[in-house]
Amino acid sequence: MNADSPVTQGPLGLFGGTFDPIHLGHLRTAYELLRALKLQELRFLPTGNPPHRDATSADAEQRLALVRAAVADQPGFTVDDREVRRDGLSYSVDTLTELRAEFPGRSLCLMVGMDAFLGLPHWHRWRDIFDLAHVVVAHRPGWKAPTQGPLGEVMVDRGTGAVRDLHEAPAGRIFVHAVTQLEISSTELRQLIAAGGDPRYLVPDSVRVLLAQLKCYARRQ
Ligand code: ATP
Repeated sequence: MNADSPVTQGPLGLFGGTFDPIHLGHLRTAYELLRALKLQELRFLPTGNPPHRDATSADAEQRLALVRAAVADQPGFTVDDREVRRDGLSYSVDTLTELRAEFPGRSLCLMVGMDAFLGLPHWHRWRDIFDLAHVVVAHRPGWKAPTQGPLGEVMVDRGTGAVRDLHEAPAGRIFVHAVTQLEISSTELRQLIAAGGDPRYLVPDSVRVLLAQLKCYARRQ
């Protein structure tokens, strides 16, 4: 068991990301979903070696340390380091298969931003994800829910507006939920820090302190 603080009842929220670095846009979204979905636990899963994107700026241990610092004071938020510990590529379907084996009957809710959801058909074995988990989509500024194509079709088949459905079935539904829109991106944070700027009020204070110590985004001298 890799999680820091396993809880055994109710749906388990899963929030994956590169978190390079984690910021208040991620945390506010996770917090609002924790409350809206009545979750007892929401796990942050930093990716090890992301398949869809370029190498991260901070290494996996640094990103993991920043996530741990970010979630430390919020009850219900936990960190799962399995993708960081795994060798090779991290596919969500593999992580969900592992979690499903650990929690055979439990509802699993995979949280994604709308931008990530729109890219879902490019994920490895994406249709299998619905056999393993629900998908909870947080609105992000400037993105609309798809009505056409493969995602439009799965929205028709699987979409629900009822939180109860996420509690009563272990997997298979799509729930779209509007969250407070904080237009913060990790890319812009990295650029800000590299330019000598201060990330104050964009990340939790604990993360800001750790960023200053790690210097993982500071411009190379
Ligand atoms: P980058 O700028 O490096 O692409 P990012 O800020 O988009 O990073 P990720 O770690 O790639 O962060 O995102 C993890 C998850 O968080 C994704 O599902 C993404 O849609 C969501 N997310 C990212 N930024 C925000 C934000 N400001 N508000 C809500 N959700 C967000």
